[in-house]
Amino acid sequence: MLPLEHIKKLTQKSPILKEIIALKPVTWLNPNKKTITSTPNFAIDKHDMLEAAKLWERFAPFFQKAFPETKATNGKLESPLRKIPAMQNLLKREGGEFQGELFLKCDNALPIAGSIKARGGFYEVLHHAEELALKEGLLNRSDNYSVFSEQKFKDFFNQYEIGVGSTGNLGLSIGIISAKLGFKVNVYVSADAKKWKKDLLRSKGVNVIEFAGDFSEAINSGREQTKTNSKAYFVDDENSKHLFLGYTVGALRLAQQLEKAKIKVDAEHPLFVYSPCGVGGSPGGIAYGLKQIYGDNVHCFFVEPTNSPAVLTGLITEKKSEISVQDLGIDNKTEADGLAVGRPSKFATAISKHLISGIYTIEDEHLYTLLTKLLDTEDIFLEPSATAGLIGSQKIAATNYAKENNLNMQKATHIAWATGGDLVPESQRKAFYERGLQIKK
Ligand SMILES: *Cc1c(COP(=O)(O)O)cnc(C)c1O
Repeated sequence: MLPLEHIKKLTQKSPILKEIIALKPVTWLNPNKKTITSTPNFAIDKHDMLEAAKLWERFAPFFQKAFPETKATNGKLESPLRKIPAMQNLLKREGGEFQGELFLKCDNALPIAGSIKARGGFYEVLHHAEELALKEGLLNRSDNYSVFSEQKFKDFFNQYEIGVGSTGNLGLSIGIISAKLGFKVNVYVSADAKKWKKDLLRSKGVNVIEFAGDFSEAINSGREQTKTNSKAYFVDDENSKHLFLGYTVGALRLAQQLEKAKIKVDAEHPLFVYSPCGVGGSPGGIAYGLKQIYGDNVHCFFVEPTNSPAVLTGLITEKKSEISVQDLGIDNKTEADGLAVGRPSKFATAISKHLISGIYTIEDEHLYTLLTKLLDTEDIFLEPSATAGLIGSQKIAATNYAKENNLNMQKATHIAWATGGDLVPESQRKAFYERGLQIKK
């Protein structure tokens, strides 16, 4: 923890930090948001995003062959965009006015990984595998990539190792895809990682290494140990360009779905997207991509647990990844898997700083009640963290954001990005649901 004098200075400069430190739910609007024509040059550009989309296309034949569940979509990994009117009505009854229409982007149903990590995590491993195979002369970019499921490729990749630090979902996605390609995989998990996730990983042939500390400590150890092997590659959630690029493709896909559904996004029809945020990679990549497509007509908000507001404190203090929530005496204890992060991604935060409209925080108990209500109204199961975006519209309606930006909220489209859930075992689902029932809100 920082010296109290230091914290006092920070809270004097940004009074909202006092509420954040007191673990109160807050809504923060980003004073540093730039218009799309005034954003600085970032470490990536639109061309990189389009190239990332092409990599996914090259690998489609591999997915078809290696993961039969992707045959029906020709090896494309995508999730539905669903309108959730019953949930919207419930939110309206309980929380007051709800302008516009509410949709759920169901990444809980992404094939294989059952979470948004299938976008970033898979992408980074595929990118690495392609690079190795090209270098070795095993592959041309014009080949049919179903060759990646051949024994020759598996034997080749088996000389190499992949390491990743994770509280769960990232480890699952990296573990599953790496093991399938033939890599040796080490997943370094933090103390709060759930037992069922560790068991599932081990059942896929992944080496799970457990640490007593939190997420950052698991990452640090993983990074150090991976460095000692010259044939090992570390997927670094705290500073990864490739993870970020993988997530940007999610924005391209969403834009295609909106177009197909004839949902307009323009100056008259604003688009609001609410994304659960851990290190800020997945929500950042999606925000970056959406901004490339829709410019100032899309409004991207992140959601963090009250006890793990890593990106929020990084942006408010402008120290980005140079500060952790623990520095401010915040405990980083939340049951929202994937969001239990004390320090933001350096790569992602440098970009998000200029693009996002704001961040709100939410209490764990609220995540559980939302989980229960969504299952009751729409028959959709999400893991607790993935529900965080559902109250976005009402959170923003309570601020002067729409007025300041002169937005026609009657014609707004709200998308809560549901980031995970399908791999949660049945017994856990019941426990989550009942917990939500018991909390009276
Ligand atoms: C990882 C994860 C997030 C957040 O992604 P970051 O890149 O860490 O910000 C959100 N929800 C779920 C379910 C996740 O697993």
